[in-house]
Amino acid sequence: MFGRAPKKSDNTRYYEILGVSKNASQDDLKKAYKKAAIKNHPDKGGDPEKFKELAQAYEVLSDPEKREIYDQYGEDALKEGMGGGGGGHDPFDIFSSFFGGGSPFGSGGSSRGRRQRRGEDVVHPLKVSLEDLYLGISKKLSLSRNVICSKCSGKGSKSGASMKCAGCQGTGMKVSIRHLGPSMIQQMQHACNECKGTGETINDRDRCPLCKGDKVVQEKKVLEVHVEKGMQNGQKITFPGEADEAPDTITGDIVFVLQQKEHPKFKRKAEDLFVEHTLSLTEALCGFQFVLTHLDGRQLLIKSNPGEVVKPDSYKAINDEGMPMYQRPFMKGKLYIHFTVEFPDFLNPDQVKALEAVLPPKPSSQLTDMELDECEETTLHDVNMEEETRRKQQQAAQEAYEEDDDMPGGAQRVQCAQQ
Ligand SMILES: [Zn+2]
Ligand SMILES: [Zn+2]
Repeated sequence: MFGRAPKKSDNTRYYEILGVSKNASQDDLKKAYKKAAIKNHPDKGGDPEKFKELAQAYEVLSDPEKREIYDQYGEDALKEGMGGGGGGHDPFDIFSSFFGGGSPFGSGGSSRGRRQRRGEDVVHPLKVSLEDLYLGISKKLSLSRNVICSKCSGKGSKSGASMKCAGCQGTGMKVSIRHLGPSMIQQMQHACNECKGTGETINDRDRCPLCKGDKVVQEKKVLEVHVEKGMQNGQKITFPGEADEAPDTITGDIVFVLQQKEHPKFKRKAEDLFVEHTLSLTEALCGFQFVLTHLDGRQLLIKSNPGEVVKPDSYKAINDEGMPMYQRPFMKGKLYIHFTVEFPDFLNPDQVKALEAVLPPKPSSQLTDMELDECEETTLHDVNMEEETRRKQQQAAQEAYEEDDDMPGGAQRVQCAQQ
């Protein structure tokens, strides 16, 4: 080196990753790293890249010597080896040094080794009624799953030896070479046929008698799923580390996804419940009362106030009779009632007279008989508006299609005219 300083590269990124300022203390760094690493841990569904970056940033900044190099010359200087290499350590090592070697994520986590492949989660739909979500319920479910064989501790053999496959030296892959020409060869890699790609063969005499060399055995397990009051359709209930076990694998979770069955009477929107009710015209005008059986079997008496008129397509609400809120079940949403009013189809002249006598008067006609004589008579027909709209749309679509059909011919005519 002849005094040529390394090129200055980015020396703020690590601070940004941890979300601290450039003059952050060791304590600030620790706190920032710990918080972000827990949030982004791959075991908790975090992004492994982000997790790695956090560890890298923390590793450099927590070392005063590396931090100085970083502040002065940036990331590249560390990569070039001035500080003994940045980010050379396993991010999981850095993380677990904060928690005494264990995992902060409770049971299952501490026994999980690192650098292991993660087993698949097992997802089951769980059908529940709206009543179940209103009242809460515990459901016992019996599942069968693979667990590591207790007799051979997952080795598959009596001796405990795991037998490296001779065909592939334990790699599970075989390479074959094909000569394509005098100076050209093709190399092909394929799964070893002797061990079916597992890299291991177990001698028949050494095979574990309990699991027959499978390393795992089936176990029946009963899980008690607590559906809590106020849970939502689609909400997940997770049993961490309860999925199939396999050697050298972090056991995945069993996840139940709630599927609410349609309720014949109540509809749910978040914390609110909706119910439909049809009133006769007489009830809408002169008052009503009816009994509504709630999801917990209580009978609610619902009645109008004296003199109140209920209009068609209107809503009324009862406070605190909606769904309980999740984890705050003593708080409840509203129960909305949507009213439909059924009108009579026909009235006889006596009924009309009687009604006219009690209802507010009609708006009086400003026209004289003479003026009325000048007007043209019309007839009102019954229509089904939905039906009419649909028919008109179909017609428009048909016409557009026919116009499209004419296009090529039309274009050709233009071309001819130009020639
Ligand atoms: Zn093999
Ligand atoms: Zn076994």
